[in-house]
This record gives sequence, structure tokens and C-alpha cells, in this order.
Amino acid sequence: EAELIARRDSVLGSSYRLQYRQPVHFVRGEGMWLYDPDGRAYLDFYNNVPSLGHCHPEVNAAMAEQAGRISANTRYLEPKLVDYAERLIDTFPDELNRVVFTCTGSESNDLALRIARLVSGNEGVIVSSYAYHGTSAAVAAVSPNLGDAVKLSPSVRMVSLPGPEGVPEAQAADFFEAQIRAAIQDLKRRGIGVAALLFDSIFSSDGVWVDPLGFIAGGVNAVREAGGLIIADEVQPGFGRTGDHMWGFERHGIVPDLVTLGKPMGNGFPIGAVVGRKTPMELFGRTARYSNTFAGNTVGIATADAVLTILQRDHILQNALAMGQRLRNGLEELAHRSPGIRGIRNAGLFFGVDIGLAGEPPASWRAMALNVVNAMREDGVLISTTGANEDSLKVRPPLICQAEHVDLFLASMERALLAS
Ligand code: PMP
Repeated sequence: EAELIARRDSVLGSSYRLQYRQPVHFVRGEGMWLYDPDGRAYLDFYNNVPSLGHCHPEVNAAMAEQAGRISANTRYLEPKLVDYAERLIDTFPDELNRVVFTCTGSESNDLALRIARLVSGNEGVIVSSYAYHGTSAAVAAVSPNLGDAVKLSPSVRMVSLPGPEGVPEAQAADFFEAQIRAAIQDLKRRGIGVAALLFDSIFSSDGVWVDPLGFIAGGVNAVREAGGLIIADEVQPGFGRTGDHMWGFERHGIVPDLVTLGKPMGNGFPIGAVVGRKTPMELFGRTARYSNTFAGNTVGIATADAVLTILQRDHILQNALAMGQRLRNGLEELAHRSPGIRGIRNAGLFFGVDIGLAGEPPASWRAMALNVVNAMREDGVLISTTGANEDSLKVRPPLICQAEHVDLFLASMERALLAS
């Protein structure tokens, strides 16, 4: 193992990081479980890409069947591409009725920014203070989570969220709107107009801030008044993770101009999309050129089509909602028994669980959260951390998870809290 790590370090770029103090090697996945070379099973409560479970046989069969016939690109007539586009659009509010495919969430956000900048004629982008939106130079520059990248861009403004600032829920909407208005003014003072508000509606990198419902609506209006577009980054909340809705923005009662998709769309196959209103999408299509070699190829489309079929047929959202509630109840009981839990937030099966002892310094919270993550890994359960101080557990199991998995998770977390 040490030898493999050394070889890794000598050939891979240094931005690669291994998870866990004791790194782990998986050779097989099935449903909720990942297996190491010794056959030890690990319960996956972390990976949101395979939201229908690892190596879903029907998804894999659809992918293999199409790969065995043809992998065609979008320049040829292909009924499957149109069928899937129609089915995908049917899951959105009526106003959102055009789609362009991509290969990753980063590409989706990159394209959405291009569209917003072209349509608005402006450059400015507003994001939350610890957001992550992807890897390309343009989206790295709107991802404060990455550190310095955002500081380099004069046209980007960060807004604080009410939750991490401790603003009471009743004042959350006003607080958020005031932040947005100040950001717009600050851009304006430097002669920069606002192109977009780009946000992930559950603010996953900021630490999973899901409530209060509707708190972003006033800020959304302020951006529209200033001529900017609204981009909902649904890479994390989309495709039913929140249980109550297919798309996270729906929880807040708003309809964005552009919506970006990725991660679970192909249950592991790299496929993403931008779904948008007709006017900006057509203006962009007429004025700019966009072609993407791999995006929308028939193998990706066949895979994504199988994912959507299963998501709808197997009532995956209802399951996410029910299991999310069971996990929430269990965590609340655990918080009564154990002093190490300071807060629990969730929408469906996406949880942020604040770790640490009240009254202790935040550095100790972060250390404790890291200890819990590593203790659970030793115990055979996979999770990670999130938030600006990395002191919240990030818990987002595949959406097919069942009561028995939730109960195994809770028992493991209780052991880890005791040991940390
Ligand atoms: N947006 C959000 C909210 C994300 O969490 C991520 C990935 N973690 C991305 C965009 C980028 O997606 P990808 O890694 O597929 O490019």
C-alpha cells in the first residue's frame, strides 16, 4: 500500500488527494455497498453520483447495449436524443423548455455563464461565499471554495448566507436580498453590470443550508431587476436528492433562467446539461457557436434515459423523502444522547451535521469532524465533511437506501462519536 501511494505520488499531479488517513481501495460496487480486495463491505453514505446505487444492472445494460451498436454524436439524426430531451424537459416547469448537453457539471456551469454573459451583455457574477461550481477557468473564478481563484476576478462578488451567519429564519430573506443588492451596487460602482446569480439551492459546499424555504426569492428579483439571469446549479440537489422535488430550486418557489445538471444524471456515466428558457437559449444559439464532441452522444443519452426511467418507475423521490426523514429522526435522537452534534440540516437525503462540543473553539470542531469521518471509515461507513470550517459531516447516500442502511449508519455514527 505504501509503495502504491509512493508510485501514485511520483506520476500523478499533486492536486490529487486521497481520502481518509487510511486510504481505501475498492474493487467492486453493488447498490449501497463498495467492496475492498479482501471482500470487506463498506456502506456508501457519501457518493451522490450513483444515486440509483453502484453498478445498477439496468443502467449498465442500457449503456452496454448502446455502446455495442453505435456511439453517434449530435450532428446525426437520432430519435433517442430528442426523446430523452423531451422527457427531461417534462420534469421542469413549463418555462424551462430547451436543453443543451454537456459531459460534466463544470461544463454545464461554464456554458450557462457564457449564455448569461452574452444575453445580459454584462460580466458580473454573484455567488455564495463558499460555493463550488467546477473546474474550468471561468467557473473556478466563481468558486470561492477553491481559495484564491475568486480573488483574481474583479467581476465576481460573494454573498454571505443567513444560516452560517446565525441570522434568524424570519430575517433570512431580507438578509440575503440586502447582500445581493449590495453586491450589485458594488459591481456597478466599478462599472460592471450583473450577468448572473449562480447558486446551488442547497448550498452544499457552504455546509448544506436548505432552509428557510423561499429565502432566496428576494435576491433573485433584485438580480433580475438589474438585468442579470438566474442560474440554478442543480449538480448536487438535482434529480430528486431533496426528495420533495426533482429540482432543488423548486423548493424555493422560483423558476430560474438556466439550470445546470451533472453528477447523478448518468449514475456514473459522465453526462450533464443546461436546461433553460427559450429566449436566452435561442439568442445564444443564434449568436454564438457551441459544439461539444462527446456531449449528447448516444451512449450517454441511452444511459441517462435509463436513469430517468428508473428514477420515475421506482418512486425514488418518495424513497429519498422517507429515508431522509428516518435518518433525520435517528440523528435527532442521537443528538439527545451524544453531546457531539451541534446541528442537523437536511433536504431529503442530503445532510449537513455540525460536529463539535458547544463552547469549544471551532478548530476543535473541525478536528472532531475529521475524527468521526475516519472512525466511520474504520467501521466500514463512508462519509465526508463540508462547510467553510470543514466541521459539518456531509452525508448523501445513494437515493435507493433502505431503512436497514439508515440504521447501520446511525449505529456506526454513534460509535464514532463516542470514539472521537
Ligand atoms: N457544481 C456543484 C454544486 C458541484 O458540487 C460540482 C462538483 N462537485 C460541480 C458543479 C462540478 O461538477 P463536475 O465535477 O462534474 O465538473
